[in-house]
Amino acid sequence: MDRYVTLDKYNTFGLHVTASFFSIIKDADEVFDLIKDSVFKEEKRLILGAGSNVLFLDDFFNGLVVRIETKGKTILREMGNNVYIRVAAGESWAGFVEEMVKEGYGGLENLSLIPGTVGAAPIQNIGAYGTELKDVFYQLTAVDLTTGEKVFFNKDECEFGYRTSVFKTRLRDHYLITHVDFRLNKQPVLDFKYGVLFQYLYEKGIVNPTINDVSKAVIAIRNSKLPDPAQLGNAGSFFKNPVIHNLLFQNLQREFPDIVGHPDVKDFTKVSAAWLIEKTNWKGRRVGNAGFHDKQCLVLVNHGNATGRELFLAAMMAKQSVIEEFGIELEMEVNIV
Ligand SMILES: Cc1cc2nc3c(=O)[nH]c(=O)nc-3n(C[C@H](O)[C@H](O)[C@H](O)COP(=O)(O)OP(=O)(O)OC[C@H]3O[C@@H](n4cnc5c(N)ncnc54)[C@H](O)[C@@H]3O)c2cc1C
Repeated sequence: MDRYVTLDKYNTFGLHVTASFFSIIKDADEVFDLIKDSVFKEEKRLILGAGSNVLFLDDFFNGLVVRIETKGKTILREMGNNVYIRVAAGESWAGFVEEMVKEGYGGLENLSLIPGTVGAAPIQNIGAYGTELKDVFYQLTAVDLTTGEKVFFNKDECEFGYRTSVFKTRLRDHYLITHVDFRLNKQPVLDFKYGVLFQYLYEKGIVNPTINDVSKAVIAIRNSKLPDPAQLGNAGSFFKNPVIHNLLFQNLQREFPDIVGHPDVKDFTKVSAAWLIEKTNWKGRRVGNAGFHDKQCLVLVNHGNATGRELFLAAMMAKQSVIEEFGIELEMEVNIV
């Protein structure tokens, strides 16, 4: 276990943060020893993957950061067109997707190029271009951080929802995910009806795309739209798209005819958080060194040397503007530490 380790390269906001204790897990079995350690038992702790969905408020984390760097992929079995594969939590998500696309295993292509680790993917049920992790998820293995027990969670037990799961809600910080099992398909029915994705393929003249075509399209769209954290610190979308009752949405529509929303579960509409941020004049606006991106206004960015609190303040100010203007409370997608 190391002391006073800088986390600058372990968070995509690029914040200068120091952890008082730091440990790297390279083998899943090391978790069992770690949780017996007095530092683990006594200190505040944070499990960290690639740090692409966390915002550190302070420049000092007074506790233990456990970084997951376990590697490995195993094909568990093949049944008909289905391939079941177990992946270690520390594997790069984007690297895993790329490899599966090359193998011709479908299901992950819409989730190409999402930063982060495989182990963190179930935490917020990552999603993009009409697909969510839950669509390819089979089960996961986790260690109960209190009892040291190894536990399996099937899809229902994960309680997946829109950018959430049981690990982000009632079992938050209770488990360390060591492996995730996926069910992929050698003959997938590709889903490319999502607006920009469909349009991109259409413009390229691709009417019957392959897994590789869809993945390449997603990568091209993402590269053209999203700021690269290596250039401009960020953690992707900062807020979730709020889901509001249809009556409230219709009421807002009368006042703001261009409001963007899509039907969600019965009687509810998912409103574009980006639209709300833009309409409250937060697109491209800065608070000190923090601000919302001038093209992708849902992305909170570090313009250089912002502090965690500066970023958080900008986010809270935008949230307040949206409440005052539309009566809608935005919920953060990023985890505040
Ligand atoms: C440019 C950019 C684009 C993005 N685009 C998308 C997108 O399209 N869709 C999307 O859903 N997300 C997106 N994200 C957010 C982010 O990539 C995902 O949430 C990703 O899954 C986070 O992985 P991570 O390893 O970086 O997790 P971290 O940020 O390290 O951790 C996130 C949370 O998970 C917990 N955690 C991490 N690993 C484990 C583990 N093994 N066991 C238990 N708990 C764990 C942490 O404690 C923390 O609470 C984007 C981020 C960026 C920077």
